Amino acid sequence: MKPMSTTRYEPISGSIMFKALVDKPLIIPACNIRIPCMARGIFKAAKDTDSPVIIEIAKAECNLNDGYIGINIDEFASRMKQIAAEVEFDAWSLHADHISVKTGTREEIEDIKKMIKAQIDSGFTSFAVDASHLFNFDGDTVYDRLKPNIDATIELAQYIDELMTGKTYGLEVEVGEIGVKDSNGMVVTSPEEATVFITALNDAGVYPDVLAIANGSTHGNVFDEHGKATTQVSIDIDQTKAIVEALKQMGSDVRIAQHGVTGTPLEFIKSMFPHGDIIKGNIATYWQNIVLDVFKLYEPKLYSDIYSWIIENYSTNGVSEEETFGKYAIRALRPFHERIEAVRPETIEAIDARIYADALLFVEALKTRGMASYVRRML
Ligand SMILES: [Zn+2]
Repeated sequence: MKPMSTTRYEPISGSIMFKALVDKPLIIPACNIRIPCMARGIFKAAKDTDSPVIIEIAKAECNLNDGYIGINIDEFASRMKQIAAEVEFDAWSLHADHISVKTGTREEIEDIKKMIKAQIDSGFTSFAVDASHLFNFDGDTVYDRLKPNIDATIELAQYIDELMTGKTYGLEVEVGEIGVKDSNGMVVTSPEEATVFITALNDAGVYPDVLAIANGSTHGNVFDEHGKATTQVSIDIDQTKAIVEALKQMGSDVRIAQHGVTGTPLEFIKSMFPHGDIIKGNIATYWQNIVLDVFKLYEPKLYSDIYSWIIENYSTNGVSEEETFGKYAIRALRPFHERIEAVRPETIEAIDARIYADALLFVEALKTRGMASYVRRML
């Protein structure tokens, strides 16, 4: 028997994915896979509905030393490729989410380059450079205020380009730190910030596909003032549309990457989100919530050990246990990694089914059904 060819199911260039789908009325789901088995139900649902999908993992989650998920870059990439090949799904990209620059020191930038090299060597096909933390509050003009972000983004994008040696790849950049509040509430990116930022990158020969903006969302689970889990409908749709309009005006194909989708009701996404203006939607904690939910019933000892560990290590006065658990569950993935990998086949069966079912809900909310064919035409 001939061994199954896996090349057909390798991740495709993020740039091909975005270019094939620009101005189509959909949002490509970008799923952070914090536990490898989550990928199976997502790929299966994508295959059955012919939907494109992005598999992603952030620097904080998976890097060269101490990522939250407890596996390294190479293992992550090969597990994702293996599951795609088993499911026989082809229309996916492998994206490095939040390559975050926190301080912009020489040392930090050089460390980040080492990680990027490892991601490229492992077969990542798309990259999100996030230098949105770097902001010159004393700058007189929009450009001056964004200059530190612009400089770091250009340097890392050029480094990626050099290592990709002529191969195309996806590029996401970020202007406006997501989930940050000031005295007026959530800080929101302006159309001018978006156009000044993209123009400065283009002038340096850097052409991103997607732009992450601050538009009112928060990463992760959302809680109300009493510490009860709640939903968020806080995304500023009008501002998001205005930003895309300004980008179109300057002749740019850059569209929006929406971060922090977890907690937004899916019927709101389906009816209110500007599909196409937002072309990528990041879904991370949502999948983790499903797995923990399954553990509660199928792996009660593991669940209660994880629960106690989080409460013991992360409780603070005045914060409900529910909120502490919801916000810090990610921190348990590394210390409990081996036990999580060793759960029973019945547990995996339930995880597969629940992830598959919810991935189908996202197919409807994000309007991805049948859209993989556009991507295949570009290959
Ligand atoms: Zn994000």
